[in-house]
Amino acid sequence: MNKKVIEAINLTKTFSENSNIIEAVKSVNFSICNSEIMIIFGRSGSGKSTLLHLLAGLETISSGNIRFENYNFEDLTLDDLATIRRSKIGFVYQFHHLVPEFSAIDNASFPLTLNGYSKEEAYEKATKILSKFGLENRTNHKPNQLSGGERQRVAIARALIHDPSFVLLDEPTASLDPETGDFVRTFLENYKKEKKISVLLASHNMDEVKRLCSSVMMMNDGSIIDSGAPNYLIKKHGRKNLEEVFLELARAK
Ligand code: ADP
Ligand code: MG
Repeated sequence: MNKKVIEAINLTKTFSENSNIIEAVKSVNFSICNSEIMIIFGRSGSGKSTLLHLLAGLETISSGNIRFENYNFEDLTLDDLATIRRSKIGFVYQFHHLVPEFSAIDNASFPLTLNGYSKEEAYEKATKILSKFGLENRTNHKPNQLSGGERQRVAIARALIHDPSFVLLDEPTASLDPETGDFVRTFLENYKKEKKISVLLASHNMDEVKRLCSSVMMMNDGSIIDSGAPNYLIKKHGRKNLEEVFLELARAK
């Protein structure tokens, strides 16, 4: 049995807006093991981003807990979580979130600079990883001088540069042209084989689910409606494909 890297226990996140309480994540339980690629599949508004933010320590927990390695996130402040994230977790936002004033190389090397690397060492590593992404001629360009696909590749380089053990990607290919989307998926497939990292990727693209993941977690209205290996879920529900499984489960809710 593979070792658990991260575990969510009765994890809940509520937001209060004016007098409304929104339960974005409702008592969610699951774990991700070493070298597992899991995809959270769900429609817009189902709570995917909120869940990823909690797991990356970007948001505080309302109730329940997250266990990551030996840490209990319920006991930690956002500052503590930032320290953990900086050394062990990579995060890719749907819309890159690069620092506009920084060049590609400064953006990609930023996590290393924060971790106390010298500028030379940080630049050397950033140059290598940007080249892997086909960006060797774009290192000095600022985000507004890059295409959408190039910006997202810089953002992924930034998320991977410190060799995290756990990487979260929030619909990283949703706003990209199909060619760049393919490039990113192929890179992730290869990178995962090379590095043995655990990956959690939010998506509403079934092709991504089929191609990349070892397991899928289906989310609807803040809850997990089912999870497991794609073929297991198809068989369990007696359906032809994952789309049908999802539609049946989301309808039954
Ligand atoms: P998804 O990523 O699946 O589209 P989100 O996690 O972004 O879903 O949102 C889930 C629900 O939580 C939505 O109803 C959304 O409006 C709400 N929500 C997310 N973030 C906030 C916030 N900061 N304040 C209030 N409501 C929020
Ligand atoms: Mg989202």
